[in-house]
Amino acid sequence: MSTARQFKPEEPWQAPEGEPIVRLENVTKRFGAFYAVDDISLNIHAGEFFSLLGPSGCGKTTLLRMLAGFETPTSGRLLIDGQDVTDIPPYERPVNMMFQSYALFPHMNVADNIAFGLKQEGMPKSERQDRVAELMSLVQIEPLAKRKPHQLSGGQRQRVALARSLAKHPKILLLDEPLGALDKKLREQTQFELVNIQERLGITFVVVTHDQEEAMTMSSRIALMHEGRIEQVDPPRRLYEFPSTRYAASFIGSVNLFDGYVTEQNDDQVRVQCDDAGIQLEVRHSQPLVPGMAVTVALRPEKVRVIHQLEADTPNQLRGVIKEIAYLGDVSIYHVELASGKRVQFTQSNVQALAEQPLTWDEEVVLSWSANSCGVLTE
Ligand code: ATP
Repeated sequence: MSTARQFKPEEPWQAPEGEPIVRLENVTKRFGAFYAVDDISLNIHAGEFFSLLGPSGCGKTTLLRMLAGFETPTSGRLLIDGQDVTDIPPYERPVNMMFQSYALFPHMNVADNIAFGLKQEGMPKSERQDRVAELMSLVQIEPLAKRKPHQLSGGQRQRVALARSLAKHPKILLLDEPLGALDKKLREQTQFELVNIQERLGITFVVVTHDQEEAMTMSSRIALMHEGRIEQVDPPRRLYEFPSTRYAASFIGSVNLFDGYVTEQNDDQVRVQCDDAGIQLEVRHSQPLVPGMAVTVALRPEKVRVIHQLEADTPNQLRGVIKEIAYLGDVSIYHVELASGKRVQFTQSNVQALAEQPLTWDEEVVLSWSANSCGVLTE
């Protein structure tokens, strides 16, 4: 799992008085009887790098297209910078959209592609040239000014498209899978460049992606979508550490889920009977829960410690046998089978080149974790 971006300490979404730059009020988009976007309310603040994340078909692009003005909501209101833009056409909104296909003009060179919108709005030639030079420098493509799109690599085309979409100083840039056409290595490199450019310009970016690592790396906040609705909106770290639903826990990273029911709660500690685990699990959880309530305990694989014998007076210990090992270079993933047949995953970082006594197949181990390292999901 990649490192989540550390966003600036001042988090505008924490300030109730801060007026959001984008406000969606109960926005719904229906195609016939099908709800592509279902009653979404959401605020995005100026300067955010905001990602709409979710699987194919969950409604991310439809939501982005409504912000751009290419789709009209069936119901609800959409405000940008305090102005109701629900019925305002795309060209009158202070937004621009960068398409996944980049949509560059094939017969125009790079400089002319970037200048196109500025020329159309009548910007004088010398001013236009300065602006294009500034944008080419920003995205580091100056030597390519005279090339046509077919003479560029995918990464270079992506930069030209970005420069072109920034030319008219939009307040908000909407990006639909901006790195989708790039290979994995170039994607990772470009993620950081995109964040640097966004921070330098201070423009609000709203990005659609289905790639959770990409969203984690770049975003100030992520809206995780599921079947036309928003499941959770949070900064990456919070979304990962404190998912609010089973869906959120499973979509972001890997997770072990133990279904069970609450047996008791004392202060901020809850005990959950999990038949698959064969024991009562202890979880730190401060929201009041009722005994008997069905819940799920969520445990990330990297929070698990491996010991070789049960320890006295220690909660959350499960005995099992290692059945699968996947070596990924930086970490190894282990699958441990419990007596109930349930499999639990844990990861270990490969700190040493070759551990003296590496864990191996069919080895019996005890998995252990603290009550602070797991969570209770009620939905
Ligand atoms: P992807 O990552 O695959 O692009 P997405 O999350 O962006 O998916 P949308 O493109 O927003 O999903 O589509 C959401 C749902 O709405 C899909 O089931 C899609 O088939 C449907 N849909 C989108 N546009 C239309 C349309 N013009 N007419 C009918 N159905 C549509």
